[in-house]
Amino acid sequence: MDTLQIELAKLRRDANLSESIQDVDKILEQLEAAREAIVQDPNSASITLAKLQNPLKHGFDKVNEDLNKVHKGHNTYGKALNKNLPKQELPFDIDGLASRPALINRAIAMHLLREGQFQVASTFLEEAQENPPQHSPMPGTPNSFYDIEDTELTSLKSRELQDKFSNMYTILNQLKARNLHPAIEWARENSEELEKRGSNLEFELSKLQFVWLFLGPSINGLPNDANNGLPGALLYAQQNFQRFQARFLKDIQQLATAMAFSSNLGDSPYNRTFDTATAWDDVSTSFTREFCSLLGLSAESPLYLAATAGAIALPTLLKLYAIVKEKRTEWTTSAELPVEIALPKSMIFHAIFVCPVSKEQTTDENPPMMMPCGHVVAKESLQRLSKGGKFKCPYCPSESIPSQAREIIL
Ligand SMILES: [Zn+2]
Repeated sequence: MDTLQIELAKLRRDANLSESIQDVDKILEQLEAAREAIVQDPNSASITLAKLQNPLKHGFDKVNEDLNKVHKGHNTYGKALNKNLPKQELPFDIDGLASRPALINRAIAMHLLREGQFQVASTFLEEAQENPPQHSPMPGTPNSFYDIEDTELTSLKSRELQDKFSNMYTILNQLKARNLHPAIEWARENSEELEKRGSNLEFELSKLQFVWLFLGPSINGLPNDANNGLPGALLYAQQNFQRFQARFLKDIQQLATAMAFSSNLGDSPYNRTFDTATAWDDVSTSFTREFCSLLGLSAESPLYLAATAGAIALPTLLKLYAIVKEKRTEWTTSAELPVEIALPKSMIFHAIFVCPVSKEQTTDENPPMMMPCGHVVAKESLQRLSKGGKFKCPYCPSESIPSQAREIIL
């Protein structure tokens, strides 16, 4: 992997298009200058064009030279990739997606919409409807035919969803341009729902607005008037922080105290509060998460997550596949993998519980049950242990009856 990193760094250094772009820009400048000269003095046209020939030829040669370097860099990197990641055939006799083509189409369309690729999404949806996907399950894949109705795909074409995402991108672009107002306005409009979800977004945005004003014109680039700097921040707090007092009194007090240190913030205990290095990215991430969750969507695109999780799982699955094939056994469970795949924390969305008695993962039909002693087993294990009557906990001396056990919601 280290060799690949080195090769990638070389590729970034040598094979980027910045030189080509500069040289193309130079050609454009020469052409524009010539046009300007001819406009000024139409009689000079032939001599201006004649003078242009050599520099232009030289310019094009230079662009080709630049591009050659780029091609060479890509070639070298391609060879390094082949050498370091030898090609491994993937088994194609299992295609878990073949039985759910419409679902896959929906995931792709949704991904494009939430990435702001509205034009591509709309073309994709049109073509998906003109050529409805064929349901073709393969042996060895989950056969239960569940797929979405065509109407659900049509609903993605609705302007409403598109408008919502386009609104999200407008606000995110404003945040990039260091303008918090549209985001704050959105959070205020949705404050009730955000608060219900325990979200701090509206306060976080307002707090950053306060800090941003506090830092003053030399940093925020806003006009140097009464609405900026320390007085501007104070005014902002007076006008806007009232609504947050019940939930964020302590934070507001800290911000107020920090004002006393305005002349030497860097050395004060508040320098972290006023360090905006990551604050803008943080509020953008929180905003995207809350925006999507109010639409009933996860912050990250499910397609992106599924593809990444799949890439992480692939080596383990290939190994499993090889073993299954060699031993000529079959993969019998369809809802769960026979091996554990360790995914990063950010990719785990709900807790699971494995019954310590049966070693099975609990499900809606077989939920985890807690006995009065605090130990937890799956419902089926509990029934098996108790046979309906008084029984002893398998992990401690306590005795109880099944009706005393309570279901645990994960
Ligand atoms: Zn117990």
